[in-house]
Amino acid sequence: MRVVDVLLPVALDHAYSYRAPEGLALAPGDLVTVPIGTRAATAVVWAENPEPSPRLDNRMKDVEDKLDVPPLKPELRNFIDWVSRYTLSPRGMVLRMALRMGEELGPARERVGVRLAGPAPQRMTAARSRVLALLADHLAHGKSDVAAEAGVSPGVIDGLLDEGTLESMVLPPEPVARAPDPDFVRPDLTAAQRDAADKLRALADGSYGVTLLDGVTGAGKTQVYLEAVGEIIRRGRQALVLVPEIALTAQFLDRFAERFGVRPAEWHSQLSPRLRARTWRAVAAGEVSVIVGARSALFLPYADLGLIVVDEEHDPAYKQEDGVRYHARDMAVVRSRGAGIPIVLVSATPSVETEVNARRGRYARVHLPERFGSQHLPAIETIDLRAEGPPRGRYIAPRLAAAVTTALERGEQALLFLNRRGYAPLTLCRRCGFRLACPNCDAWLVDHRFRRRLVCHHCGFGMPPPAQCPHCQAADSFVAVGPGVERLEQEAAELFPQSRILVLSSDLVESVERLRQELDDVAVGRFDIIIGTQLVAKGHHFPKLNLVGVIDADLGLSNGDPRAAERTFQLLHQVIGRAGREEGRGIGYLQTHQPEHPVMRALIASDRDAFYTSEIELREKTHYPPFGRLASLVVSAPERLSAESYARRLAAISPHADNVRVLGPAEAPLAVVRGRHRFRLLVKSPRAFDLSVYLREWLAAAPKRKSNLKLDVDVDPQSFL
Ligand SMILES: [Zn+2]
Ligand SMILES: [Zn+2]
Repeated sequence: MRVVDVLLPVALDHAYSYRAPEGLALAPGDLVTVPIGTRAATAVVWAENPEPSPRLDNRMKDVEDKLDVPPLKPELRNFIDWVSRYTLSPRGMVLRMALRMGEELGPARERVGVRLAGPAPQRMTAARSRVLALLADHLAHGKSDVAAEAGVSPGVIDGLLDEGTLESMVLPPEPVARAPDPDFVRPDLTAAQRDAADKLRALADGSYGVTLLDGVTGAGKTQVYLEAVGEIIRRGRQALVLVPEIALTAQFLDRFAERFGVRPAEWHSQLSPRLRARTWRAVAAGEVSVIVGARSALFLPYADLGLIVVDEEHDPAYKQEDGVRYHARDMAVVRSRGAGIPIVLVSATPSVETEVNARRGRYARVHLPERFGSQHLPAIETIDLRAEGPPRGRYIAPRLAAAVTTALERGEQALLFLNRRGYAPLTLCRRCGFRLACPNCDAWLVDHRFRRRLVCHHCGFGMPPPAQCPHCQAADSFVAVGPGVERLEQEAAELFPQSRILVLSSDLVESVERLRQELDDVAVGRFDIIIGTQLVAKGHHFPKLNLVGVIDADLGLSNGDPRAAERTFQLLHQVIGRAGREEGRGIGYLQTHQPEHPVMRALIASDRDAFYTSEIELREKTHYPPFGRLASLVVSAPERLSAESYARRLAAISPHADNVRVLGPAEAPLAVVRGRHRFRLLVKSPRAFDLSVYLREWLAAAPKRKSNLKLDVDVDPQSFL
């Protein structure tokens, strides 16, 4: 009897033993169907089990079937094991990310095609003639495509089939993406870009190594790394391009198509289940040469991965904050090391971690010094809100308003940046001072006036604005305090009545397609003023945009996050970099209460290196990453007391290790979320210390938890709320 250990994509760490039925050849990596409880699940053979425990014998079930897909290679299985060990997540949960197509992996559905076969029908209708016009080329077309394009029901086509005017056949499945042509166009590069592209192309020959591609916004980093991608295509291998937010990649897809003739395959959460399943198969079979995707694309079963590119590597969106808490940039480095392939990290404002690695020579650096063509970096000025702020209840200072007016008169676009969704972050009763708070969280409700709702940004709770104050019963007594993008729009509409204004904010995004359309509308000049959250900071190109006004440059500087200065610098640098990329010199205005802050000073002086040098010094002195390591443990429970006492007991049994400190427990800055009280412990260790092993040992000795008490472990946390 042969026994295999099978890993299931569920929240369990260990593999289960199953009997391999006679005649079913099974090897590690094979995808199989196994019974679990009363149902069947897709799982993966993790190992042979040469000595199954005899007491399991009579309870052991048979593997039901083997799926007809390529096995998960050792490289991916090792990666799954590694991520699980590092993040302290059950292996099954990590496997689940690699099997995102889940149960959809059945046989591909047949695609029915139709084409002209016989004489015209006796009875002609408008609908029929539209169908026949579409098929006039005598080629086979997908039946459902024809119905959709002609705007007819499938019944119309069935009628034509019955009469013999059309015939049907089974079409081969449509490819997920057509093959890109590395020689589709010869790119038009500057000398500096050519030099950088040569260095990146040379990586295609090599083995594991990390390269930072570093250059200001608009320097043409994408064109340059696409040359390395082209080299991988030429060799018949696969390249993965990770992007922080797939909704914002329309221009990347277009640029890719301009360079290689076709769009790459995409991987993100908005793919239909069928397209996911087909893409997964195509990646595993090596039929897709380039994938552009969100962080989950890192767990795809590449047949022959040759290169990983992480665009905007500093972006916080690469950290997954629920389920398996992993940082996709860091794990991409791990995967490329395991696969023995090069990886390119791309940024105009690298993370401090990456910058330190580049400065110390652990990462190679390829630098793009200038903006493409004749473009210049925008000039940056501060507006000191203490001295020349806007009138009370207003948020656009007079000097910024005057600059916007000038830009509009010149036919240019202006971007007003405020990283706050909704109308106002706080609503209070002007009579009694009562503040509208979330019933489940320690947070104020945010007024979303476009949707006529007050919403909690932490749990999603929402309610219509109350007619009366719940505390003093006064009617119409609520006032909005502070600005959000929706309120800013109101002010802009009053200040610039003739202008066409668009608000871009993630909560207003109905679909990826709609957002891509709106970004295109901005690019061709259908709007004069764009008001946006960080959604607008990320890489897309607005040729007519020449002015960026940052409404609250201090937002995010004072939130107790060790990366607050870095994040603020990156975000503001990026958003101001949107200005003036095509014609003339752009200008950025920073409205701030602290113009002397190092972040503001570095931005004004366009002195990125000075900012990094001072920030790196500070991190080194305080032993914050990358000069020390952090892990956070959050204990939460419906009752405050049980969360706190468990956190205390946990702290009390923390193992001793040299230079490892356990801070807390302290009430979390967000003390209540979704009705759960939260206490935080922070572990600080030296850089070379194995925190995962330490944590595992600690948690193995942790007191038993009641079922309503939760412990969330986050290695290398990005969020400190
Ligand atoms: Zn809430
Ligand atoms: Zn009141």
